[in-house]
This record gives sequence, C-alpha cells and structure tokens, in this order.
Amino acid sequence: MQVTKHVHALRIPFTLPIGPGITLDRFVYAFLIYGEDICLIDTGVASSKQVIFDYIVSTGRNPNEISTIVQTHTHPDHIGATKAIKEAFGCKVAVHSGEREWIEDVELQFKERPIPGFHSLVEGSVEVDQVLEDGDVMNLGEGLTLEVFHTPGHSKGSISLLLKEDRALFSGDVIPLHGDVLIYEDYLASVDSVKKLLGIEGVNNLLSSWDQPREGEAIYRLMNDSLNYFQQVEALVAEHFMNGVIDTMDLCKRVFQDLEIPAAAAIPTVAKSFESNIKALKK
Ligand SMILES: [Zn+2]
Repeated sequence: MQVTKHVHALRIPFTLPIGPGITLDRFVYAFLIYGEDICLIDTGVASSKQVIFDYIVSTGRNPNEISTIVQTHTHPDHIGATKAIKEAFGCKVAVHSGEREWIEDVELQFKERPIPGFHSLVEGSVEVDQVLEDGDVMNLGEGLTLEVFHTPGHSKGSISLLLKEDRALFSGDVIPLHGDVLIYEDYLASVDSVKKLLGIEGVNNLLSSWDQPREGEAIYRLMNDSLNYFQQVEALVAEHFMNGVIDTMDLCKRVFQDLEIPAAAAIPTVAKSFESNIKALKK
C-alpha cells in the first residue's frame, strides 16, 4: 500500500521454524521508494522476491527499475531476497559498515547468531556496493534524499533512514512495541538509539519493520512507549536477577511470563538479549 507520496509499504508474512514441528507465524515489512528509479528498504525473506515484483507490477511500474537496496540491518528476515533481486537486475546494495560481514558471508552470521530456520529465510551471501555511516545522505534521484542515522543496539550496524522530502522514517527493528519479543545485542545502545530517533523533528510517517505504518502524533508517543517498555524489561530482569535467577534462558522465560509473551519465543538468541541487561546492571 502507498503510505506517502513516494513510499509504499509491503507486509510480508512468513513462517519461522523454531523447533522440530514447531513454527511461529511472523511478518516483516519491506518498503519501496518510488522516484526516478525504485529504492528498496530491506527485502524480507527468501521467498519475497516474487511478492515484491508482483507488487511493483500491480502499481504500473517495472521491477527492473529497482536500482538500490538499502538494508536497515542484515538479520535474515531483512536480507532474505537481496541476493535474488540483485542477481535479477544488478542493483546496488548498501549497508552500514557494522553489518557488512554478516551479509557478505551469511554462514559467518549463522555461526555467530544461529537462529532457527536461518537457511530457510536467507537466499545467500551478497556483495556490498556501498558502505554507509551515520550522517551519510544518499541521493535517490528526482530530488529524493535518504539520511542515515546509526541506531545500534538491536544489532551493531542497525540504521534508521529518513526520506527527507516525505519526512518518512524507516526504523527497522530499532523500536520494539509492548509485547514484542525483545532482541538486542546491547541494551543501553538500544535505548540511546530510540532517544536519537525521538530527537528527529517533524517525522510524518514511521515505517517500522514489525509494525503497521504510523503517522502523526502517534509516532512520538510510540517511541516514548518503547522507552517505557525497555525500562519495564530492565526492571523485571533486575528483579529476577537479584532473586538469584542467573541463567539467561531461565531469566528470559520468567520475564516473558511476566510480559505475557508466548513461552515458545524464549529461544537462546532472544535470551542473549538479557545478557546485555545484566552487563548494564553490573555497571
Ligand atoms: Zn532484526
């Protein structure tokens, strides 16, 4: 669906195999910026190529107009179809320097972050054409510009992107909502990143990977809610930890129970988030 003058949002449902015979229904958003060419923000999962191409055709444009793919970060549900799309049209792939290794060598990513179902989500490794840093401004043609904000925490090279002309902010997985499964490598950096986004004035549209597009007043309220959620989680981790729960899987299960998040979501990759909470507590 079209959300601003130049931006279209595409909700991509997928199934995540999290254990023998157990699957989790999830979704992720990919975004398309229509200018002179088409710029994709993330590509969803491995099977997303056709979904994206069909959508482009349904709007009267041609998938061969895709000139750039910008990755908010390189987790499997964001880079799944990048290889296939790049191979189809030779478009440019841009990522933050902190994420380059994980897309150029997806097996390295899997070794370092072995999430269940990884290989069903990701098509394969992709060479990066443009390395992004905080403050970079990408020129998308037709007067459209995309400003890069380094917003680490969820992953070390997570970025958010502001399409200046539409005041549309793509926030990837930076802003968790109440009840979301919490995934971050660095708790304190995650909090700082949400604060950084709160400091961007005049955002009209918030385009998050795990949430429907939001607009107007709701945006800043949502960011503040997210900060409260981080605080709530931090307090729960502290409480259990002080009560002697030191195993991170155990901690994860208890915190999820408190937050009414399904127990099946407590997997080691997610439990790892709480290691950084404990680290922050010890500071
Ligand atoms: Zn992610």
